[in-house]
Amino acid sequence: MPEVVQTMMSSPQKNQLEVNGQGPLPKGPSPNSSSGQTSPVVSRPTSPSFWSPTYQRLIDRIHRRQTSGDKFFSLEFFPPRTNNGAVNLISRFESMNRGKPLFCDMTWHPAGDPSNTEKPTSSTCMAGTMLNYCGIETMLHMTCAQQTKEQIIQNLNKAKDLGIRNILALRGDPPDGAEKWTVVEGGMNYATDLVRLIKEEFGDYFVICVAGYPSGHPECTSYADDLRHLKEKVDAGADFIITQLFFQADTFLKFVRDCRQIGIHCPILPGILPIQAYQSLRHIVKLSKLEVPQEIIDAINPIKENDEAIRNFGIDHAVKLCKALLDAGGDDTCVPGVHFYTLNREVATIEVLKRLGMWQEEVLRPLPWKLTANPARCKEEVRPIFWRCRPNSYVYRTSDWDEFPNGRWGNSSSPSFNDLKTYHLFYLKSRSPKEDLLKMWGPELTDERDVWEVFYCYLTGEPNKSGVKVKRIPWDDSELIAETMLIADKLACINKRGVLTINSQPRINCAASDDPSVGWGIPDGYIYQKAYLEFFTSRQNVEALKQILPNYPLVNYHIVDHNGEADYTNCDPSQPIAVTWGVFPGKEIIQPTVVDPLSFLTWKDEAFGLWNECWGKLYEPGSSSRQLIKNIHDNYYLVNLVDNEFPKETCLWELVDRMLNTAQSAKDPKRIRSKKQTKNQPPQQKPTLLSRRTQKKQTAQISVVNLIISLLLNSMMSRWTLDFLDS
Ligand SMILES: Cc1cc2nc3c(=O)[nH]c(=O)nc-3n(C[C@H](O)[C@H](O)[C@H](O)COP(=O)(O)OP(=O)(O)OC[C@H]3O[C@@H](n4cnc5c(N)ncnc54)[C@H](O)[C@@H]3O)c2cc1C
Repeated sequence: MPEVVQTMMSSPQKNQLEVNGQGPLPKGPSPNSSSGQTSPVVSRPTSPSFWSPTYQRLIDRIHRRQTSGDKFFSLEFFPPRTNNGAVNLISRFESMNRGKPLFCDMTWHPAGDPSNTEKPTSSTCMAGTMLNYCGIETMLHMTCAQQTKEQIIQNLNKAKDLGIRNILALRGDPPDGAEKWTVVEGGMNYATDLVRLIKEEFGDYFVICVAGYPSGHPECTSYADDLRHLKEKVDAGADFIITQLFFQADTFLKFVRDCRQIGIHCPILPGILPIQAYQSLRHIVKLSKLEVPQEIIDAINPIKENDEAIRNFGIDHAVKLCKALLDAGGDDTCVPGVHFYTLNREVATIEVLKRLGMWQEEVLRPLPWKLTANPARCKEEVRPIFWRCRPNSYVYRTSDWDEFPNGRWGNSSSPSFNDLKTYHLFYLKSRSPKEDLLKMWGPELTDERDVWEVFYCYLTGEPNKSGVKVKRIPWDDSELIAETMLIADKLACINKRGVLTINSQPRINCAASDDPSVGWGIPDGYIYQKAYLEFFTSRQNVEALKQILPNYPLVNYHIVDHNGEADYTNCDPSQPIAVTWGVFPGKEIIQPTVVDPLSFLTWKDEAFGLWNECWGKLYEPGSSSRQLIKNIHDNYYLVNLVDNEFPKETCLWELVDRMLNTAQSAKDPKRIRSKKQTKNQPPQQKPTLLSRRTQKKQTAQISVVNLIISLLLNSMMSRWTLDFLDS
């Protein structure tokens, strides 16, 4: 991720935090020094002003960390084989990014169509996802294998277009298990040639890393020759080195000393493999043609059938190895950080990092929304609130923008969002398999109330009718965030009555910026928010809402239907409304989320589309469940409400309650009359089984009417919707 550093001019001693870098300053002793020395502060600040972040090249960040002794870690992943594997791997990127690696890298596999950006599992696509959607500074591996120079240049351009700024330049292995390396016509023979090509074609755009071999490359004529060839790579322009895995600290430390002696002075990162299973170790050792030291063979052989024992051994071994490396070395030979071959698994690596004290989960969010690591967006500070629960979608839909709003959203001049019909990206779909979604959202829907119940269960955490917890809804692929928990009970009440909330925030009149629920930014600041509610609700409710809204002049509203034919608002379309802002010492006000009426019209297509695309399509075509979801899509409205009176208790709950009561009385005027009955009259009987059945019958009749209406509307369905369904 870009090194975006925040510097507090007014209180530099305590307020330094990297927005998008390696997390907040360590508070106590250096997490990575077993000797308990304090981490020097110089490694993290030194940057431009807090809210004008600038991108800093990975190599500069490595140098700073090397100078300061503030050790870091990085993580290697390989591309998955299947789309499901990719979805899982992406959530692993996110969970491992919580520990704040300095960067992560994605390997290059000639057999896996690595440069195909249309293929979700390709190396390039996965690297782009890591950078743009997971907020991780990313390095893409690239080899010379089976590629001409022209193809390599094309592929580097693809990486550049995705925002990738770091390349691990490699020769690659002989294809298809062949023993001997052969160069393709028009291709290149050595990694050195690739480094030169990158420099010639792209100048300093890419930071270049190369591979080093502490025991010598298996094909090399001698260890000394291999070192000389490594120096050639560095002299050609490589910025730093990552080594092949090894098992003993001395092997690496000798290699570093030898490198320094022949004039290689760039940072050298040790490649660490936490041994995770006997078979995988054998496989890797065979591929890399490495020798496993006898002491490790002796330790592993007796436990080779016991996976857990091997894993524990691997973790212990990796911890000892890393400690020995991180504590060793003088000025020129010190180890600035460790690089892990994760094998796409997280448990062992995280455990090793925790034991080393290098795993530090960031507590304070830099902004209320998830940042991307693409350098092109490093100045971005404002987003419409609508995509708050779908940040990946927002990043995708704005990926063509040349500039990103910073400071203010501005006088909204019809921002152009990428069209959803070209929206093939699988990873923006739900992470849960269809079977799980059906269990959560109901294998069969018979009534709109079944849908309301799903929203209710999502908010309360109560299991649904089948005893399953609803962990996500189509508009939010994650569990509730702490901020929403503050109003979850109120939200649950209105959802149970058919006000289906998909986004909201409580009003906050001055909370500390490090508040665990609503805080963001740097310490010693203050956070403000206007109460915000966004929901789908029925036509009847909207009619009632329109009657009531004039009583609430300080509430801004925007009400739309799925095709935009209905569009009611009291907002000035050219005037975004700030709904979140923060006040920080020595700074201007930061206002990172707004309600922008024009963007809302774009968002509504996506929000409505999710009914059919994400939920309806779980059911067979023509089934009553699918039809029911479609009815909601066709007949419900999307509403957003902003209560501008943030210092007072919000009126939005009262407003929604009045809307529901008014709609109910319009539907059933007798109910109001019966409510007005005098105390002397006998109490109303609870509905009998019979009367409930009658109610059900009435609901069924209403559903039939809805169905007919929706069939009529269906025939008028817009071209866009069809495209969206096809995508
Ligand atoms: C950190 C790391 C990551 C890797 N990632 C990948 C990956 O993503 N995909 C993949 O396919 N493979 C990967 N590999 C494996 C790598 O491709 C192989 O080890 C490959 O055999 C050598 O690649 P290289 O870049 O080190 O080659 P080079 O540096 O080109 O060296 C290859 C051999 O040629 C010799 N040599 C170099 N220059 C000359 C010269 N001028 N004259 C004569 N001999 C010379 C070297 O001594 C060496 O023996 C990775 C290896 C490492 C250590």
